[in-house]
Amino acid sequence: MKSYHQNIPLATPTMHGDEMTYIQEAFDRNWVAPLGFNCDGFETEMNAYLNGTGNTDFFALCLNAGTAALHLAVKLAGIKPGDTVLCSDMTFIATVNPVAYEGGKQVFVDSERETWNMDPRALEKAFQKYPDAKVVVMAHLYGTPGKMNEIVEICKRHNALLIEDAAEALGSEYRGKKCGTFGQYNALSFNGNKIITTSGGGMLLCENADDRKRALFWATQAREPAPWYQHEEMGYNYRMSNVVAGIGRAQLTHLDEHRERKEKIYRRYQEAFSDLPVSMNPYVADSKPNFWLSCMTVNPGMGVKPIEILNRLKEHRIESRPIWKPMHMQPIFDGYDLITVGERSVGEDIFARGLCLPSDIKMTEEEQAYVVDIIKSCF
Ligand SMILES: *Cc1c(COP(=O)(O)O)cnc(C)c1O
Repeated sequence: MKSYHQNIPLATPTMHGDEMTYIQEAFDRNWVAPLGFNCDGFETEMNAYLNGTGNTDFFALCLNAGTAALHLAVKLAGIKPGDTVLCSDMTFIATVNPVAYEGGKQVFVDSERETWNMDPRALEKAFQKYPDAKVVVMAHLYGTPGKMNEIVEICKRHNALLIEDAAEALGSEYRGKKCGTFGQYNALSFNGNKIITTSGGGMLLCENADDRKRALFWATQAREPAPWYQHEEMGYNYRMSNVVAGIGRAQLTHLDEHRERKEKIYRRYQEAFSDLPVSMNPYVADSKPNFWLSCMTVNPGMGVKPIEILNRLKEHRIESRPIWKPMHMQPIFDGYDLITVGERSVGEDIFARGLCLPSDIKMTEEEQAYVVDIIKSCF
């Protein structure tokens, strides 16, 4: 086994050089501000990308974080203090925190085993228990689309709005439709380790132009149209810089290539693990993940714990990470309700057996083989 002196990271930005062209233009034209032609261009180009598969039109708004996009989505959905919101349980906390920014109360909905995302059966059960719930926030984990047909149908039947957290799922598709276009309000993220990045940033996607306009109003300190600074409600400073948007425009042209390289990494792990008692993060046949992160679970009943694998990898300067710890297990949400189908939470089980593996698209085949060897040595 060859040893490496370089770190093998989980996922880092992959720049292509053409980002600089857009940045340079922002400098040349002195559009170094939280608005401008790169912001407009990034929104238009993202619209074209998302609507390319025959989706209904979406209106995009560049923001300084995916979390900001989720917050504005929750505001657009009309969440008021005390409102119940049905949320993915196993996800990054940014999916669910914005509900609390508006005073809403999260009820967590368990995952299913086929995609690790919100279980439609648990969602239906949640609506039985909370018939007044008017909003659902669901995330697609690690680039794998959830069971959108069922989730959309259940939301419609209960007259609830759907907010899709597609922060990890840009470029993923479910039945030919892109993630980020299933809900009424949807969020993307361009944080440093996402499939494309602007260093930091996000985008809100709305079904209609009026909603985008309202979101832009809140994102720019809620200034009323008046000759002076006039304010009737609370706003935020959430806009994306025109410099940063330039990075995004170039990155978007490389998204499909990033996706292909991510998929190759996933397939290599899959093949290498064929004789180990582990499984890759699963997806359903009618979906096309972006394979943002390759993950594995140790099969039930095996003695090996993911944290032992993580530590062994760390000794060899290889970065891996635990699966998102479910929200109902977080001290900050102590006492919040969790809806499961069976006795035991599926999310808890996946968390206990799972690990995110190095998925950087600059990782060589040799480096990946080294990662695999270390993992094999754990069994
Ligand atoms: C990254 C991420 C976010 C937040 O995006 P930021 O741009 O970092 O604010 C939200 N939800 C999920 C599931 C994420 O992975």
